[in-house]
Amino acid sequence: MDKRTFLKLTGAAGAGLVLSPWLGCAPGEAPDHATRTEGTTFGPEAFKLPDLGFAKDALAPGIDAETMDIHHGSHHAGYVRKLNAALDGTSFSTDGSLEALLADVTPENAALRNNGGGHFNHTLYWEVLRPGGPSAPEGDLAELIGRDLGGLEAFATAFAKAGATQFGSGWAWLMVNGGGKLEISSTPNQDNPLMKNCVEKPGIPVLGMDVWEHAYYLNYQNRRKDYIQAFLGLVNWESVAARLEGAMAQVK
Ligand code: MN
Repeated sequence: MDKRTFLKLTGAAGAGLVLSPWLGCAPGEAPDHATRTEGTTFGPEAFKLPDLGFAKDALAPGIDAETMDIHHGSHHAGYVRKLNAALDGTSFSTDGSLEALLADVTPENAALRNNGGGHFNHTLYWEVLRPGGPSAPEGDLAELIGRDLGGLEAFATAFAKAGATQFGSGWAWLMVNGGGKLEISSTPNQDNPLMKNCVEKPGIPVLGMDVWEHAYYLNYQNRRKDYIQAFLGLVNWESVAARLEGAMAQVK
């Protein structure tokens, strides 16, 4: 990595610049959880289901169209609906972004934890699955996977294991931890590493893999490991690299 790339990656060259992790939005389209004015109140439709951004059969045969249809149009939509119902009429002391809500959520607030997590996690999932980009990590992302996780093969083995051994429903994560290093973790239900009051390993997720049965059961039944291998072959590494850049700017 040359000096310029490194500075860019660590944020040293762009102090104060926080990149939006929501790079999957269509040009000109504001993300539904953009910063809100502090001290205002959530309305009944504060958050919206994002468009998938690609055809439902675009990931087949690895992830089939019917699974995508139900997963996005029913499961994700349900999290958005219940998140809005939980927030409607409440005020916020932070900027009102979903990230800020999740950073503050406590284990006692099950509605926000489960549905805010569900909305964040699925939005990330569609973005890291968006077809396109290189078939393997490149540049800074590849370097950091080498530095912190022992290379792509070791990463894939450890990430697959995190997904396969997550008991019941949950997620496997590749994240940037507080020390600015890549780390793999898993969380139950709809928790994610942003929820520092709820999870063992807090951080900023850059890649998330849904291992709820609804993510794979139609096509794979109980063969979670086969779904995981398919997922790893479908990752949009460009999207992960963009998230990494944003995460690194935040931890510095
Ligand atoms: Mn899901």
